[in-house]
Amino acid sequence: MNPYDFVPIDFNQPIARRSPIQHGKFEKNTVSGSLTGRIIAETPIFIKSGNTEQFTKNKAGQYIIPGTSLKGLFRSIVETAAYGCFGGKCDRRYKDNQRGTIDHSKKLPASFLACTDAGHLCIACRIFGMLYSNNVFAGKVSFEDAVCNKPVAHNPAAIYTIDLMGPKPHHTAFYLDSSGNRIAGRKFYFHHQQRIRTTDKKTSYNQRINPLDTGSEFTFTASFTNLENDEWQALLYAIVLEPEMRHKIGYAKPSGLGSVKIEVTHLRLIDYASRYSSPNRGITEYQEQSLRDYIAAQTRGFTSDTTSLTLNELRRIWRWDVNDKTPYRYPTHEWFNNNPNAPISQTP
Ligand SMILES: [Zn+2]
Repeated sequence: MNPYDFVPIDFNQPIARRSPIQHGKFEKNTVSGSLTGRIIAETPIFIKSGNTEQFTKNKAGQYIIPGTSLKGLFRSIVETAAYGCFGGKCDRRYKDNQRGTIDHSKKLPASFLACTDAGHLCIACRIFGMLYSNNVFAGKVSFEDAVCNKPVAHNPAAIYTIDLMGPKPHHTAFYLDSSGNRIAGRKFYFHHQQRIRTTDKKTSYNQRINPLDTGSEFTFTASFTNLENDEWQALLYAIVLEPEMRHKIGYAKPSGLGSVKIEVTHLRLIDYASRYSSPNRGITEYQEQSLRDYIAAQTRGFTSDTTSLTLNELRRIWRWDVNDKTPYRYPTHEWFNNNPNAPISQTP
């Protein structure tokens, strides 16, 4: 099976845009506060540091997952699960050696393209911010770097990944839907239950890397202000997903790296309206059972939705099933040549 698939966009579901609540004043009926979480590697993981084979570290020499990487990960989930614009990095444009730059943005209705007006934003841009020409909205959530407090050394320390590009990465039948008129959606990589896939030498398309092993643990914090209810619920869902799903982050995903379990371990909400009048200074803290109950209630709109095409496809691709024996690998040159119009579902 091809190592990635696309979560389709529901073109019947228009993107709801509205004016974001502005910064600088604390609004009633919004959610502000901070949370702490844990990221546990379920497979080896590698966060690239520039063009080196070393895992990214901070100035104190600790292994980290940069806050910007976490933000990018959660943004892509909000865009997918909560019907945001096609704002992040995407596969609309790519270089093809034979055909030059191919632009698939024409295969996306204009209303689904990235937001351009800071007064009229989709849910992902209201949460994470947007920048277009002179239009800027800073976003309402920020992530600190996740710090590895429990590194597990990989043995051997250095590995060669498999080729991180398919032999024909721009096989049009993968990138467009069955009509050929629309992009296939947003790309997500499958989890590998088998061992990670490596090679024993350098090629033109692989990398030598020093990953951390399964069981490595990171902690992170996020703070947020003035999130409206739908924004808060989408953000929480993007962070915790569902029990039988896992996130995938970092480098060498086609080699099977980067499957992680993300848990929120502590949540502190601040009600600025009652900050000076209530005995607890407007602060409510959640952990253990109260936190689990709170998160289950807040994310129920997503977790109980069994009819959403996009959610069901995200569940399919990011399902964490230890009994899954599917071998994920790029099809060969021969396969592409023999199956010029075959979709991902037909890959061997
Ligand atoms: Zn947007």
